[in-house]
Amino acid sequence: MILESKLPDVGTTIFSVMSRLAQEHSAINLSQGFPNFDCDPALKALVIKHLEAGRNQYAPMPGVPALRQVLAEKARATYGADLDPEAHITITAGATQAIYTAIATVVHPGDEVILFDPAYDCYAPSVRSCGGIPVAIPLHAPDFTIDWDQVAQRITPKTKLVVINTPHNPLGKVLTDHDLRQLEVLVRQNDLLVLSDEVYEHIIFDGRQHASVLRVPGLRQRAFVTYSFGKMCHTTGWKVGYCIAPEALTAEFRKLHQFNVFSVNTPMQHALAEYLQDPDTYLGLPAFFQAKRDHFVRAMEATPFRMLACEGSYFILADYSDISDLDDLAFARWLTEEHGVATIPLSPFYAEKISQPVVRFCFAKTEATLDEAAERLRQL
Ligand code: PMP
Ligand code: GLN
Repeated sequence: MILESKLPDVGTTIFSVMSRLAQEHSAINLSQGFPNFDCDPALKALVIKHLEAGRNQYAPMPGVPALRQVLAEKARATYGADLDPEAHITITAGATQAIYTAIATVVHPGDEVILFDPAYDCYAPSVRSCGGIPVAIPLHAPDFTIDWDQVAQRITPKTKLVVINTPHNPLGKVLTDHDLRQLEVLVRQNDLLVLSDEVYEHIIFDGRQHASVLRVPGLRQRAFVTYSFGKMCHTTGWKVGYCIAPEALTAEFRKLHQFNVFSVNTPMQHALAEYLQDPDTYLGLPAFFQAKRDHFVRAMEATPFRMLACEGSYFILADYSDISDLDDLAFARWLTEEHGVATIPLSPFYAEKISQPVVRFCFAKTEATLDEAAERLRQL
């Protein structure tokens, strides 16, 4: 039998490719986005406590009630959103599963989904695997701002969903209240749904406030909002996240969730529920990562890279036009193989062919690692 691929042009993700190349060449891995430091020992102790207490069987399908309760309180305190944990919050196997399930919940064959390129890598393949059509709106260096008039022009009777991401991976940019107001008008006028990927909600700098759609009632009532404990607790390997959506959307989301995943890792959920009782566990994240960003930017001053602005997330873009004429894929490969520092090129995040002399560095690393990488890049 010949299997007809649903994603014929999809290969291995650029994150896996660059991490593997880094390993092969013993390069410092500033490519794939994960911390190279451990999570809080108190969180690990809680996991052990709940494992030992025998919380090792299936969790309820939507998630452990205590965890959903603490998340509802967090959303109220942080964004003024009045949520019912029973009706609005579902714990997922990471944000990736929340994103896939939200897309599969709303996209029927032939539906169009608006994405902003560079788009995080899972959005377009998820849409296409459901028979949907990604409609990519490219944003360009140096400021990558969204032209909402242009977005309005790309809406057709088939448009179903708009996907946004703030703070943004890979750009390190954040959306503003103005962006959310424009989006609100657009989705109301055209009766659209929104998927807002907010996994870096607490990694935001220079006193900025995260523009969550949970703050805007007109958006919240039409939105799936996705989060990741991997980003919030330095535990990307746990693959636990969640999705907030209005009752009717959550009901449909759970119909798919229950047959795809059913329920998520029980002891981790209990540990997170207890750990997050204390908001200080995440309120320090902006200062913690801002110090890393500033340290890295200072260390990179002595290299020929030109660092672009980073308003949030743990990624920063760098312009390499003073170093090389190679395209970004070739440059990232060369830098890993010849200079021992792995980065992520930007072009895989675009549907159209682009040539921008820009790569992404991840600074969720110890200062020693960031210093060692900058030291190697000074030799360029
Ligand atoms: N969205 C964005 C923008 C991300 O950067 C990531 C992962 N780093 C995810 C979603 C997926 O999160 P998770 O690891 O919880 O699946
Ligand atoms: N989100 C991580 C990044 O942007 C990668 C996750 C993955 O490898 N799929 O680097």
